[in-house]
Amino acid sequence: MLLKFWGTRGSIPAPVQPEQVEQKIIAALEAAGREQINLLNAQSIREFAANLSLNASTVGGNTTCVTVEVGDELIIFDAGSGIRELGEYLMDESDPWAKKFGFARGKGHAYLFFTHTHWDHIQGLPFFKPIHVPGNTFDVYHVHKYVPDVLARQMEQEFFPLQYHQIAASFQYHLLNEGAQVEVAGATITNIELKHPGKAYAYRVEADNAIAILATDGEYKSLDYTSTMKYSKFYANADVLIFDAMFSVRESFVKEDWGHSSALIGADIAKEANVKRLLLFHHDPASTDAEIMRVWQETKEYLGQQQGAPEVLVAQEGLELELNNPLAASEFSINDHVEKGVIFMTLSGKFGAHATEKFRDHLAHSLQTYQTDKVVLKMENLSELTIAGIRALVDARRTVLTLALVSVPENIYRVFELAGTTDFFAIYKDIDAVLSALNSHSD
Ligand SMILES: [Zn+2]
Ligand SMILES: [Zn+2]
Repeated sequence: MLLKFWGTRGSIPAPVQPEQVEQKIIAALEAAGREQINLLNAQSIREFAANLSLNASTVGGNTTCVTVEVGDELIIFDAGSGIRELGEYLMDESDPWAKKFGFARGKGHAYLFFTHTHWDHIQGLPFFKPIHVPGNTFDVYHVHKYVPDVLARQMEQEFFPLQYHQIAASFQYHLLNEGAQVEVAGATITNIELKHPGKAYAYRVEADNAIAILATDGEYKSLDYTSTMKYSKFYANADVLIFDAMFSVRESFVKEDWGHSSALIGADIAKEANVKRLLLFHHDPASTDAEIMRVWQETKEYLGQQQGAPEVLVAQEGLELELNNPLAASEFSINDHVEKGVIFMTLSGKFGAHATEKFRDHLAHSLQTYQTDKVVLKMENLSELTIAGIRALVDARRTVLTLALVSVPENIYRVFELAGTTDFFAIYKDIDAVLSALNSHSD
């Protein structure tokens, strides 16, 4: 799954100020002078700027909007002012990415999840161009009952020129129970209540063997083990935890019941939950990029070099994270394709007793589908082979006219030797060798 950040501020949009731009330019020029960067060379300027991190860029001023793409499906979380930016990109079909979704042509569809309806999480929706194109459809998921009503109310004439009923796209609403699990777009999504005025909900998204958690607008008032346990369980083993880091620790103690947390509290919870990456999110509108950078440094320092400590990142506009974990070595998978009447099957992972049924079924299905009985098994991705696996291969040899093994790793070949079965199979070094053997047979 692909995560993209369109708005990462909390409370109210906070455009970067002219004097901040000026300061960034001055600081960059000073650094370039110190490092004696050749300012007549475009390439060296670009490399230098890339290393300046937020000093040459900005966290951005838009309020919350995050997208998750799973395959060709689009899931949007919250409609803060960042969703306007997302809409601009989706409407520009000169971009193949936007064309794939089809929103400019009224053929688009997306899932839209709301954490809650505070202004900074809904205010961008009227400005999201795809909702004004007839034919586009949105499946809207929410835990608060009143979400459809609030979205309509913010478009009443006193607040906005266009009325909710004038929206051209169609919205299908889905009320979620607290803690409910839904399957959408190939992802499994669950929710948990966060302590926040009027309640907010965190979402756990599982897809592509990866886990992303959006936990914005949440206060962790009691930090006792028993109080935070339900959260560390919900956030457990996440690849990414997007965390409300609006306050400093000090503020979170002083501003009790305001409903927000801090980066260091996130660091503790992320570590307890075995989270891989902690993303600081819902930045205070009053925080400058320099201040957010400082919090980022302090959070890294706090976690130190501890083993298993999560990596810390600042959620900024334009940040993209691809989450896709390779199959664990203990799992077994098969991919196949057919070429010139030969089925090429790639076996990956551990070919043991738990894999034999899957192998047998897959082989039978492929023989049926492709109507051929020449099979080449590519074995370079196998991590382990047991006697049960060899038994399955011996059985396969009986159902297939030609069964060739190719790219057999050394440790796997040794298992064939120990079982005294190397002569049972036609084993080839690589694909070229097996193809020339197959061709000479058919000549
Ligand atoms: Zn908020
Ligand atoms: Zn809120």
